[in-house]
Amino acid sequence: MSEHDTRRCLFCGIAAGTVPSQQVYSDELVMAFRDLHPQAPLHVLVIPRAHIAGINAPEAEDGTLLAALVRAANVVARQAGIAESGYRLVWNVGPHAGQSVFHLHLHVLGGRALGWPPG
Ligand code: AMP
Repeated sequence: MSEHDTRRCLFCGIAAGTVPSQQVYSDELVMAFRDLHPQAPLHVLVIPRAHIAGINAPEAEDGTLLAALVRAANVVARQAGIAESGYRLVWNVGPHAGQSVFHLHLHVLGGRALGWPPG
């Protein structure tokens, strides 16, 4: 993403540590931090360290990266003690899904019974 200006991307700032966050997981490829406006008792966002605009971007179709994101989400859920009670992993894509930040992020939601279908 040579044309991408990471200084203008909120989640690039969080990945770089220049924007504060409540980090709960980190490895070479991905990191996870608490959502600023939690929609459930546990609401964490898992992001790639490198900038990717969303799960619909070609760069997201990388097996190693996708495995790292899912593995981190499962680790976060286990560490939060909700692996048995259950949780939801969400990718929001585009306007109808309410995507508001254009740096790929996987929502991890749990700690209460979640309604279905989502609003
Ligand atoms: P989405 O609507 O799927 O793009 O999700 C973006 C999420 O980022 C929302 O749930 C926001 O509450 C969250 N968010 C926005 N700014 C921050 C921030 N500085 N730290 C943590 N979460 C944030």
